[in-house]
Amino acid sequence: MAEREKKITELKELGEFQLIEALTKDVQLYHKSTIKGIGDDAAIIDAGDKAMVVTTDMLMEGIHFNLVYTPLRHLGYKAAIVNFSDIYAMNAKPKQMVVSLAVSGKFTLETLQELYAGLKLACDTYQVDLVGGDTTSSMTGMAISITVIGETEKDKVTYRSGAKVNDLICVSGDLGAAYLGLQILERENKLFEQHKGFQPNLEGYDYVLKRQLKPEARKDMIDFFAEQGLQPTSMIDISDGLSSELLHICSQSDVGCKIFQNKVPVEERAEIAAAEFNIEPLICALNGGEDYELLFTIPLENYDKVIHNKEISIIGHITDKSEGRYMITEADTAIELRAQGWNAYGETD
Ligand code: ADP
Ligand code: MG
Repeated sequence: MAEREKKITELKELGEFQLIEALTKDVQLYHKSTIKGIGDDAAIIDAGDKAMVVTTDMLMEGIHFNLVYTPLRHLGYKAAIVNFSDIYAMNAKPKQMVVSLAVSGKFTLETLQELYAGLKLACDTYQVDLVGGDTTSSMTGMAISITVIGETEKDKVTYRSGAKVNDLICVSGDLGAAYLGLQILERENKLFEQHKGFQPNLEGYDYVLKRQLKPEARKDMIDFFAEQGLQPTSMIDISDGLSSELLHICSQSDVGCKIFQNKVPVEERAEIAAAEFNIEPLICALNGGEDYELLFTIPLENYDKVIHNKEISIIGHITDKSEGRYMITEADTAIELRAQGWNAYGETD
């Protein structure tokens, strides 16, 4: 009898989210205390009076960072920030963190102390306690895996799934600059590799480089919501580009959206950098990554509460699912939003 051929699926056939879905679709939850498992920026666990919030993120050398142009102090800072950002995206505050590190013999104590200086600075700045971790060796470069535990009131937890028709779609800060910072670093690095004695010129790019190398997480937004008594209906942090994150909110909330090109916030210094690379700054905002801004929706009647906050842009509104997911351009044409964020397996989805 011919043996049935076992199906083999190459990882490059799947996007990151399809892979996670395929691996986790039959995961069972056994505890009532697990309020939210896989599928949001962080898991939510019942902790008596409060909700405990848990997230983890791993950064790999050669995939997420290049040590040729990433100072280890900045890397430590960023590794912490990307986790804090996921906790804020649940409308919670980070409290504790554990750090797991894999390193090869090419590192010295002094360089790893630099990494820790960055981690500690992030902890001091955001008031987080470093409470443990693990250390091991690696043959293939450095890996840093960080898990952060946060806390919030149970009724303040904000999921990706709560957006309602007519809600306003809001975004903090500005978008696209971190992607442009990466393009500058990559360009100078290539020139450095090709030409002996080449001196990288990073002058004038401070803003976009800072957005790439030393991002911040939007603690101020969570404080603002608390001060204003404002409860977003849905929220996500922007790690993969605005399009992809907005589509997550829409699919998990079962709604459509309409955003306006001219409302998408792009900083002038990002526009200048984009022009050098001949790319549309808007494309960097939609499909670039690593901005770590917050994308959230609020009920229409909360308009007055956000309109005076210069850190918040209202970029559109939530529509019925049947109306689709569109961006209206300056020329008044509707373009369907597509996810073209990062894909760790080498191809965009
Ligand atoms: P984020 O970009 O906000 O960190 P991800 O896109 O990495 O979120 O992950 C989406 C969801 O899938 C999260 O709830 C995350 O915890 C979960 N997830 C990601 N990878 C795995 C995995 N290997 N096993 C189980 N759950 C995972
Ligand atoms: Mg996230």
